[in-house]
Amino acid sequence: MELAGKTAIVTGASGGIGQAVAEALARAGADVAICGQNQERLAATSTLVAATGRRVLSYAMNVAQADAVQQTVDDVAKQWGRIDIMVNNAGITKDGLLIRMSESDWDDVINVNLKSVFLFSKAVARVMMKQRTGSIVNIASIIGLIGNPGQGNYSASKGGIIAFTKSVARELASRHVRANAIAPGFIETRMTEKIPEDLQKKMLDSIPLGRYGKPEDVANLAVFLAGDRSAYITGQVISICGGMVMQ
Ligand code: NAP
Repeated sequence: MELAGKTAIVTGASGGIGQAVAEALARAGADVAICGQNQERLAATSTLVAATGRRVLSYAMNVAQADAVQQTVDDVAKQWGRIDIMVNNAGITKDGLLIRMSESDWDDVINVNLKSVFLFSKAVARVMMKQRTGSIVNIASIIGLIGNPGQGNYSASKGGIIAFTKSVARELASRHVRANAIAPGFIETRMTEKIPEDLQKKMLDSIPLGRYGKPEDVANLAVFLAGDRSAYITGQVISICGGMVMQ
């Protein structure tokens, strides 16, 4: 039970990766506060976390809204007295080639994917700095490292998360608060279901390990980065992509 006695917040916990992360953190002993929009899928995650015997708090909220983020963090801190782990995972895609991309598709993706990471990190940093311990785990993407045609907004948001993570890691290290980013490749969730089959096949051919990733693959890494086994790791970006990207 490497996370026994710790508390965590996971955004996007109503989605594929977020649900797996929330359950894995709970299995490792953490109490988990889950955030998302879809009530039904949030309730499903809540049931999985509760089944581990850990405490769960559930928040239906918009991660891009500053007030909602602050209220969520304040409530978790009030109810549980501490916040040890923050997993910034909520994200969307609104793909389009540059010359056709609307301003609103740019703004929406930047706000949900990147601004939310700033808002949650700022809010939990105050709590973690006082505690003199904490781990922030940001879910970026290999697309933030290598780019992708038709994903200018998404790649900018994920590249932004990577750069932001490094600055935060440098700022908070003296208080023993760590920040790292995970860069997943192709993980089987609702997000990747949308990709046309021929493109999915092409991606599979480019994965050295010869399979798509599962949400649990990402969850295992998140648990490691959240806990004390990774105590000497901060400001890093770890790709989890079956070898698609090797740095
Ligand atoms: P997913 O199943 O679609 O989950 C996305 C999650 O984000 C959902 O819980 C969704 O909540 C939440 N979300 C979206 N907009 C929100 C908002 N405004 N406020 C609150 N929550 C919001 O996709 P996923 O694959 O698990 O993605 C999770 C993260 O991994 C994302 O950041 C994604 O960019 C990243 N990632 C995924 C892959 C992949 O191959 N799947 C690869 C690289 C990176 P609702 O459904 O309740 O709205």
